[in-house]
Amino acid sequence: MDLKKLQKLARAYALKNAIAYNGKAQTGSVISSLFHEGLKPEEVKKNIKEINKIISEVNSLSLEEQEEEFGTLKKGVSERKGREGLAELPDVKKGKVIMRFAPSPSGPFHVGHALTACLSFLYVEKYKGKFYVRIEDTNPENIYKPAYKMIEQESKWLFKNKAKIVIQSDRMKNYYKCAEKLIKKNAAYVCSCSSEKFKKFSDFKEDCPCRNNDLKENLYRWKKMLKDAEEGEFVLRFKSFNGMKDQNPAMRDFPLARINLTKHPRQGKKYHVWPLMNLSVTADDIEMKITHIIRGKDHLDNAKRQKMIYEALGEKKKIPWTGFLGRIKFTDLELSSTKIREAIEKGKFKGWDDEKLPTIASLKKRGYKPEAFYKFAERVGISENDKVMNKEEFYILLNSFNKIT
Ligand SMILES: [Zn+2]
Repeated sequence: MDLKKLQKLARAYALKNAIAYNGKAQTGSVISSLFHEGLKPEEVKKNIKEINKIISEVNSLSLEEQEEEFGTLKKGVSERKGREGLAELPDVKKGKVIMRFAPSPSGPFHVGHALTACLSFLYVEKYKGKFYVRIEDTNPENIYKPAYKMIEQESKWLFKNKAKIVIQSDRMKNYYKCAEKLIKKNAAYVCSCSSEKFKKFSDFKEDCPCRNNDLKENLYRWKKMLKDAEEGEFVLRFKSFNGMKDQNPAMRDFPLARINLTKHPRQGKKYHVWPLMNLSVTADDIEMKITHIIRGKDHLDNAKRQKMIYEALGEKKKIPWTGFLGRIKFTDLELSSTKIREAIEKGKFKGWDDEKLPTIASLKKRGYKPEAFYKFAERVGISENDKVMNKEEFYILLNSFNKIT
């Protein structure tokens, strides 16, 4: 947006907002209106001084002066009706929307989680649907035990007690049942090749010998796998539709379940066969009747794999609509749970809610409201474009959204 247009619109919206609120316009409301006129989030930082200057000029006028000036500028501002921003979701049948947000318990929520999750949550609210927070903990090696509790607490706060919390490792039977169904439909096989050997087959686009085993052999191996197999002895693989010749190596008979003897922080030694995400995610999405998914575009291949599993199970009609989100890359905000954890352990931060951290625990403590994240998520919307933002820009935006609410 060019400066002239911005100045004119900012003045008009500042007057409009001031008149509505006893002569005092708020930065957050004015910025929100400017977004509707085409101002981009990345343009806020360079224009914030100018916008604030205009707002203080307007706020120094008397209400009569504001009304008089607004009378001449009125034509230039659009009247907004009803709820703003959120585009309709496609494929909404009879208003039924069931969505999920699926964090792994490697750490508590940070701003990246909140923005993705809140967008799904807003849609569920809009259509009066159902929202799950599904903790995906079927990799025993990627779990930070305190994260379960933190994710639960933060979900309660962020989604106002409206999210149903589900933990995958409590639902293992569902995954085993799904795996067996795939084997019986000749859509999966138990492979005994080592990972190096399988990689060679994949590189040469050749079938591994296990791919042609009959049902009896597969069921025998699956039972053995569940009973007493050793780590690495077997892997359950999906029989990809294009086989081992698929142009995309990621699609070639990808794994569905593996043996991992690591003690699980929640389940202990109860299980040693763990589903990989494409199996557990599909089994749960089917069982929970998920209708729509909003996920990062780094999950494009997984979405394709999961679609194939739906089809192999004869559930093609239930494949959810999927919207992909671009990444918000924060240039100077550390979001890696592992790195934050290390820094906390070294005493660099007081804890997960340290005021210097971009975690939800910290932002909550600093007085941010869930609505600030809703507004932020709504503004970003379902867009595949990547965005680059620095800490300062992020907080200018979040602060302005926090004020509107
Ligand atoms: Zn094999």
